[in-house]
Amino acid sequence: MAATPYTRGLNRIADGCYAWFEPPGSWGLANSGIVVSGDEVLVVDTQNDVPRARGLRDAVREVAGSGEVGTVVNTHADGDHWFGNQFFDGARILATAEAAAEMRELTHDPRLIRKAAAAAEGRELRDFLNWRAEMFDYTDWRPVFPTETVTAKSSITISGTQVDLIPVGPAHTRGDVVVHVPERGVVFAGDIVFQRSTPMVWTGPVSNYVAACEMILALEPVAVVSGHGPVAGRSGIRELCDYLTMVLEHASKRFAAGDTQLEAFESLDLGEYRLWAHSSRVFQAINAVYSELDPQRPAASFAESMEIVLAHDSY
Ligand SMILES: [Zn+2]
Repeated sequence: MAATPYTRGLNRIADGCYAWFEPPGSWGLANSGIVVSGDEVLVVDTQNDVPRARGLRDAVREVAGSGEVGTVVNTHADGDHWFGNQFFDGARILATAEAAAEMRELTHDPRLIRKAAAAAEGRELRDFLNWRAEMFDYTDWRPVFPTETVTAKSSITISGTQVDLIPVGPAHTRGDVVVHVPERGVVFAGDIVFQRSTPMVWTGPVSNYVAACEMILALEPVAVVSGHGPVAGRSGIRELCDYLTMVLEHASKRFAAGDTQLEAFESLDLGEYRLWAHSSRVFQAINAVYSELDPQRPAASFAESMEIVLAHDSY
């Protein structure tokens, strides 16, 4: 099969399966998926801001004709995967119970991004939040939350096409779900899969993240739509597993030797993975491994972690 181009907007992946890409897939620039069957439509993740979500909604109309979006799946609680839900209000909106709870906390309310920037103690986080405020448009934004939660592997049917929802969290966040369309050989992986960039492990455990990648490989998909970056083949997922395993082993060794998270970060030789965008995100993965090994040990907070990650990142 020819590789799917990684161009902004709508791209056909397989019969009735499409991806909406936001290159280069950096912070906040996430992919969405569309599954069309008969006169029914399912959308996976709804983009980060108002113009992007409107673009996705218009793209759905382009491929689905009169088909209405009956179902939305939010793969997890990061804003770049659900802030566009208002354009699909009225649809059945599914997420894991953990993700739905996290969304309702609205810890990173996009309407308050300038205030959050002004309140940030660190310069790196302040600059980053101001950059995000410039980059994304939340005029007339309102939160629309999931209407139903997924607690175990389950199947739904979109006009005769089976769609499997497979919870795999906590991994990237507290509650991640992977969407599989078996008869089309397509997986919409959300942020379990990053391609050409370094995965962000907000919560871990990293071992769950690896297990989720192995589970996707076992599905033997033809195409995996990543959360950020181009479509992944099996080799791309294997590479991600190898990377996460390398980080897990390094961090475990440094933990046993008594190093701090920062020392473990500074002593890590990333090898070829240094070429992945946002390579300093590995600090947060190390932080997650430390929390996994000793839940009592104080983890670096979001602000502390971002200060270190962003100091080495040019977005
Ligand atoms: Zn994301």
